[in-house]
Amino acid sequence: MAYRVTLIPGDGTGPELVAATRRVLEATGVAFDWDIREAGADVMDKYGTPLPDEVLDSIRTNKVALKGPITTPIGTGFRSVNVAIRKTLDLYANLRPARTMQGIPVCHEDVDLVAVRENTEGLYAGIEHDVIPNEAAESIRIITRRATERIVRFAFEYAKANDRHLVTAVHKANILKATDGLFLRVAYEVAEQYPDIEFNDRIVDNMCMQLVQRPHEYDVLVMPNLFGDIVSDLASGLVGGLGVAPGANYGADLAVFEPVHGSAPKYTGQNKVNPTATILSGALMLDHLGERDAAKRVQSAVAAVIAEGKHVTYDLKPSRNDPSAVGTQEMADAIIAAL
Ligand code: NAD
Repeated sequence: MAYRVTLIPGDGTGPELVAATRRVLEATGVAFDWDIREAGADVMDKYGTPLPDEVLDSIRTNKVALKGPITTPIGTGFRSVNVAIRKTLDLYANLRPARTMQGIPVCHEDVDLVAVRENTEGLYAGIEHDVIPNEAAESIRIITRRATERIVRFAFEYAKANDRHLVTAVHKANILKATDGLFLRVAYEVAEQYPDIEFNDRIVDNMCMQLVQRPHEYDVLVMPNLFGDIVSDLASGLVGGLGVAPGANYGADLAVFEPVHGSAPKYTGQNKVNPTATILSGALMLDHLGERDAAKRVQSAVAAVIAEGKHVTYDLKPSRNDPSAVGTQEMADAIIAAL
C-alpha cells in the first residue's frame, strides 16, 4: 500500500531539495502516492494568496506532509506561510533534533540535543501593529496555560519514549514575568508528573552561552516560540549548520516535516545546497509512518556519505570553495547508493 503524503516543494531552493529527498525516500522501497501542492511567493499570481486553501485541505486529508522551505518577505508583504500552516493546523510542537555526525568538523564532539519549540503562540501569534507609523510599533506576546501544558508534556513524552533523561525549560521569566513566568510555573507543574525524568530551567541568554561552551550538559530543551526558533538554529550550528538540521511539526493527528532552514534564495536553481536537512526530515516522516527500518536506513546512509566526506556539498567541506564539493542531486545520488 502506498502512503498518500502531501508534498509541498516550497520556493527558493525548496523544489530542488524536495526533489532530492523524494528520490531518496522512494529508493527505500517504501511506496508513496505524492499529493503535490504549491505554496509560496511563486503561486501568488495564480491563486492570489501564497497559501491556497487546497494546500491546507490536502494536509488535513492526508494527515502527513513533507514540505520544502518557503520565503517570507522581510518587514513588509504577506505573513509567513510556514507560520500560517503551523498555526492553522494547530501543529503545536516543533521538534528539531541536533546531533553531531562523524565527518563534520565541529567544536564539540558527541552533541545530542533536541529542541522542542512551541509553535502556535508567543511572539509568533502575529498580533502586531503600528502605534504611530514609522515612529512606534507594538507586538503582543501570548502565552497560555493550555499551550504551555501541551508543549511541555510533549517534551516529557518525547523524552520518555526516546530514553532521554533531562528536560530543560528555556525562558526569560526574570524580565517577562507575566508571560514567561506563567510558562515556567506551568512547566514545573507538568514536570512533577514525570518524576523519572530530571527537569531544570535556564534563562535564555545564559542558555545560549552554556550551549556554546558545555552542550553535553543538556538533552531536551523546551521553549516558547521565538526562543525555540533561535536556540534551535544555535543548536544546528553546533552540529554542522542548517544544512544538516531536520525538523518536524506535530499536532494532535497531523504532522508536517520540513528542514529547520529557510529557502536560501541566493542559491536557487544552482544545485548547490545540502539536501541532508530535508532528507533527515523525510526520515523523521518515515518513522512517524511506522517505517522505522526505512527511517534508520536513510539515517545510516546519510551518516555514511557524510563520514566518507567525498560526495558532500560545499558546506560540509573544510573550505567553502572546495572544488571537490558535489551538488544537491549528486549528494542525494550518493545517499541512494549507500542505501
Ligand atoms: P536560510 O536558512 O534560508 O539561509 C541562511 C543561510 O544558511 C544560507 O545563506 C546558507 O548559507 C545556509 N543554508 C541554509 N540552508 C542550507 C542548506 N540546505 N545547505 C547549505 N547551507 C544552507 O535563512 P534566511 O536567509 O534567513 O531566510 C531565507 C528565507 O527563508 C526567508 O524568506 C525566511 O523567512 C525563510 N525561512 C523559511 C523557513 C521555512 O520554510 N520553514 C525557515 C526559516 C526561514
